[in-house]
Amino acid sequence: MATGQLKIAMLSVHSCPVGRLGRRDTGGMSVYIRELARELGRRGHLVDIYVRAHDPTDDQIVELDENARLIHLEAGEVEDIHKLVVYSYLADLLCELESFTERSGLQYDLIHSHYWLSGWLGRCLQHSWNVPHITMFHTLGAVKNTIGMGEDEPELRIRAERELAKDCHRVIAATEKEKEDLIRYYDASPDTVRVIPCGVNLDLFQPVDKGIARRQLGFDNDSIILFVGRIDPLKGIDRLLMAMTYLGKRQGLRLVVVGGDDDSEAEVERLQRLSHKLRIQDSVTFAGAVEQEQLPCYYSAAHVCVIPSYHESFGLVALEALACGTPVVAAGVGGIENVVRQGETGYVLKDNAPLRLADRIAALLSRPDNGTRSVSSTRASVLGFGWANVAEAIIEEYKLVLGDYVAHVC
Ligand code: UDP
Repeated sequence: MATGQLKIAMLSVHSCPVGRLGRRDTGGMSVYIRELARELGRRGHLVDIYVRAHDPTDDQIVELDENARLIHLEAGEVEDIHKLVVYSYLADLLCELESFTERSGLQYDLIHSHYWLSGWLGRCLQHSWNVPHITMFHTLGAVKNTIGMGEDEPELRIRAERELAKDCHRVIAATEKEKEDLIRYYDASPDTVRVIPCGVNLDLFQPVDKGIARRQLGFDNDSIILFVGRIDPLKGIDRLLMAMTYLGKRQGLRLVVVGGDDDSEAEVERLQRLSHKLRIQDSVTFAGAVEQEQLPCYYSAAHVCVIPSYHESFGLVALEALACGTPVVAAGVGGIENVVRQGETGYVLKDNAPLRLADRIAALLSRPDNGTRSVSSTRASVLGFGWANVAEAIIEEYKLVLGDYVAHVC
């Protein structure tokens, strides 16, 4: 610490931050961890990200970037398992992690955990290591249960989240709404929660010439409405399919749904059946998961990117679309209303009602400036959201928490 360099144990045990994006458990949180680790490493801090080993071909230690490593811990079968099953291996993961750090002579200044499963682990370590613990929930079980889609989140998650919110030294929330929810559902103390919005990789997400992007993807003559994300009922893709029916049989209108892998097959099939039932199957393309490096082409080819979600932790996709110069129509969830400028770079709606979505999509499709003229100003609207700024805010928070911790211990 004397040089100002921080050694950070980052915990992401259930989800690999470098896993293929667009799968069931690899989305915004994975992007957040890898981008933050990279930015921290560039600033000279040391980051070790602990993950449950899930692929037998992985080395135990993988160098990710300057000063950032991925460390695999063996607990349970070395394959992908459901995140709730990871819960039953938390005690094993704790033993593995402690013996790895002991063997390697590693000591950290602080713990930064992601999601309640890693938060559980972080709670144990904060006591045995005597270091502060900063956590991010990414989603809250209690909030998911109030939305009431899919299976209920188990009581053990709700209990673990409540205990974590009280015990950790800081919670970083992505939005004011998440902070309110933490106070409302888990009695978190307002002083322990700090709101820091998420970021976007401004080097990767850059506008590509629309014509070139469309030709490259084979969408030459179509007007593209784009969805990007994990294929999950919470994402409201069915609402967007219904919105397509209100847009009618406009010539060359195509909905492209990006995301989903073998682990989301059942939900993709449900959506495909719905598009047949709605008789729009010829105007919908399910493109599957796309590497992030290819996404600027998709965003740039699109006339509008739609986020019809019932819930978002933040909504990175909105930032990415705007950074590529593409307007967004979104339900007012997550951090989206602080990202999209109403009537300027898109529309934020009070919910994901199909008619409302269709109305605003139609407004954007017929907007005379929905072309290259608005690309640069749309991108300019999100230039303050680079990951560098997020990392600076997080480092400031680390230092505050460490200062408080030391003062408290002394
Ligand atoms: N993503 C991707 N390829 C896909 C689908 C999604 O790279 O096929 C990425 C996307 O670029 C974004 C992230 O996954 O960075 C999804 O984050 P978001 O915050 O929108 O949703 P979450 O996963 O948190 O629900």
